[in-house]
Amino acid sequence: MNKSSIKLFGIDTVILVPGKENLSGEHLAHWKNCHTGKEIIHPDRETAEKTAGRKSVKIKERLMSVIHHLQVPAKRVVLVSEDLFFISAAKRLGLAMVIGISGETQGKSKLYEKGAHLVLERLENVSVYKGKDESACSFTQHLPNVFTDLNKFETPFRDRQPVFFLDYDGTLAPIVRDPASAFLPDHTRDLLRGLSNRYTVAVVSGRDMDDIMQFVSLDRIIYAGSHGFRISGPDGLYMEHAEARTLLTKLDQFEKHLRETVEKEIDGVEVERKYFAIAVHYRNAPPGSLERIKKEADQLIGKQREFKRGRGKKILEIRPSLEWHKGKAVEWIMQKLGLSDQRKYIPVYIGDDVTDEDAFRTIADDGIGILVGTHSLPSAANYQLKDVDQVSKFLHYMVHAD
Ligand SMILES: [Mg+2]
Repeated sequence: MNKSSIKLFGIDTVILVPGKENLSGEHLAHWKNCHTGKEIIHPDRETAEKTAGRKSVKIKERLMSVIHHLQVPAKRVVLVSEDLFFISAAKRLGLAMVIGISGETQGKSKLYEKGAHLVLERLENVSVYKGKDESACSFTQHLPNVFTDLNKFETPFRDRQPVFFLDYDGTLAPIVRDPASAFLPDHTRDLLRGLSNRYTVAVVSGRDMDDIMQFVSLDRIIYAGSHGFRISGPDGLYMEHAEARTLLTKLDQFEKHLRETVEKEIDGVEVERKYFAIAVHYRNAPPGSLERIKKEADQLIGKQREFKRGRGKKILEIRPSLEWHKGKAVEWIMQKLGLSDQRKYIPVYIGDDVTDEDAFRTIADDGIGILVGTHSLPSAANYQLKDVDQVSKFLHYMVHAD
């Protein structure tokens, strides 16, 4: 199988909303893998003719009445649709999963913007299974490995030059118990140097920019730290998110509070102050610690809209609640360096964590996303690499390819 696909388990009902082409009758008839209840809604002309604002309200009401009629909890219902209004209404209703179907030509990013958890090209890429009564919903996603069909992977590079964006922890450097000693292996540094001699290369991380510069320590690379809130690179490239800077004093207070509470009270918890965020590491803490940390973080954030909670692998983070993330950083870099002409350049983003999904979604239409390993959410990446070692094998291949 060389397409991204998903299997969902523990689902009572799938609501299918056929649109113009991708979910047409022919496809529905061929959808053999559905081992659970199926409900088909045809968006009627009357609803479609309502004004945009009213329309989404109507659709939400309609979906609610369908779910009510089915007598199943929303948490065990999946919606599959190519209709942007249904996607956005379903997301707000908190269904187990909202899947957008894009077809091979239509863009995916619009469906992601409306709230789809995952966008696939065809209905055939989705399989759904009923669970035992008590079992929770779960899923497994298949992504093609880059090395399974290198030829296909490389096709876009025939007429477009790749621009590489790489996450650091779990992508370039192995994840280690002590985040301060996540050193970059020497051979990876050599490969990155080789790559940056041929192409534009950026390292995009949740870590502080200075931190990441020190670990990588190469001149020709662009560094985006704090999920892109701070960026610098060769020839005076520099950016610091102005609005985020106004929140630094509050972050100082939060840091002090968290050090005096969760860090003191729970063995193995470590509070790390980053430039634009606070990370609470609980990898070495007893099971169940996350709940207590969450509670403390939520109390701090309170009703203030300026901050939000974020999650990473065994990390809880408090960071500014601004419309800025790794994907925005990718766009900013491409634009600032004059690389946004999609006929000439193509962004290739490689990362292992949920925060990298923002970047995968941002470049879903005109770039290539590569997920390293797996994480807990469905991924918008196009390909997969198994682990850090395979990333280094991939870099070696790109450096030495003809
Ligand atoms: Mg990572």
